[in-house]
Amino acid sequence: MVSVNVKAPTNIALVKYWGKNPLWEKFHIPMKSSLSFTVGDLYTETTLEVEDGSGELSFYLNGEEITPERKEFEYVDKYIKKLFELFPETKKYNYHVESKNNFPTAAGFASSASGFAAMAKALQGAMKELEPQLYEKYFADDAKLSVFARLGSGSATRSIPSEGGVVIWHRGIDPNYPFGPEEVSPSTKEHVIFSSYAESLFPAEHWPELRIIYTKVRKGEKAVKSRAGMKMTVKTNPLHRQWVEYEESVMLPRVVNAIREKDFEALAKDTMKLSNGLHAMMLYTEPRIRYLNDTSEQIIDAVLDLNESEVKAAYTFDAGPNAVVFTLAKYENEVSSRLAEIVGEENVFVTKMGKGPAFI
Ligand code: ADP
Repeated sequence: MVSVNVKAPTNIALVKYWGKNPLWEKFHIPMKSSLSFTVGDLYTETTLEVEDGSGELSFYLNGEEITPERKEFEYVDKYIKKLFELFPETKKYNYHVESKNNFPTAAGFASSASGFAAMAKALQGAMKELEPQLYEKYFADDAKLSVFARLGSGSATRSIPSEGGVVIWHRGIDPNYPFGPEEVSPSTKEHVIFSSYAESLFPAEHWPELRIIYTKVRKGEKAVKSRAGMKMTVKTNPLHRQWVEYEESVMLPRVVNAIREKDFEALAKDTMKLSNGLHAMMLYTEPRIRYLNDTSEQIIDAVLDLNESEVKAAYTFDAGPNAVVFTLAKYENEVSSRLAEIVGEENVFVTKMGKGPAFI
């Protein structure tokens, strides 16, 4: 029996991931590249035990046993089964997973990102012991490991690079690539699966003054799961393609440049524009998806107000009402107390960029 303990961070996207390539949906190949900050203090800790067996899974999440009929079980089970499909030798083991998030699960903080990054990292540790040849070929480097994290949850891809910091997830194949996995040779299939991976562009130390402020706007599960929401958008929103094209060709290079130059004003403006763009996409989806609520709108107004004479903060929202606000050390107190007036001090959490996953 092999037992591995890991810790993996969540990440917050500036250039968002929203939409899988429909032909390669099963392998979570995105329509466009995305970019995120690795988050310092929001993480998952996972213990994986692997022993001889026949591909059985048991799963505990946040101290609770997850039984097979639950959705949470299904996600991890599907993930393990994809691994069996790609590498039949992994099926001769049983997998026992115990995972804990140090922040709210399924509430729009990307617990699936840190959760599946931790899972992939733990598998890396186990395969090194149990299947050294497989490990050398597929698990040893971060780029390939990011592919395995992706098979669990798209945004987990960006939580893999060890250096952390600013991470880009390359989309891989062109969104117009006309063949699906059943129509290509096994080697082409492998090429396509590995074409989409993540890498660190700048380490966390690149911008030590940058602060990431999480706000918790509402308790409980969000309305539409990201998986279902993005599928609806790709299917029903005629503007999705243009959005993909515009963000990749115009916005992504601009954001990378603002980070390279540590130009906070430029970064802040583009970050808010990108978040607004994502949520505009939601409104044009059928049926309409709405993740922001009145408190989210209040936070937006507060940030715009703070920025009146000088740009001090930027908001971004994922598939939920919680705002993540970027600022600089010199404005940290002013910005976080303003946010605390809206959501309460206990719901404001200040952190920085951090490193990627590690064995513990
Ligand atoms: P979030 O915004 O938290 O990512 P999602 O609904 O996209 O919300 O994903 C939450 C789901 O991710 C959970 O319901 C669970 O199925 C899965 N998940 C969360 N944390 C973990 C974990 N540590 N290990 C495995 N799966 C996890």
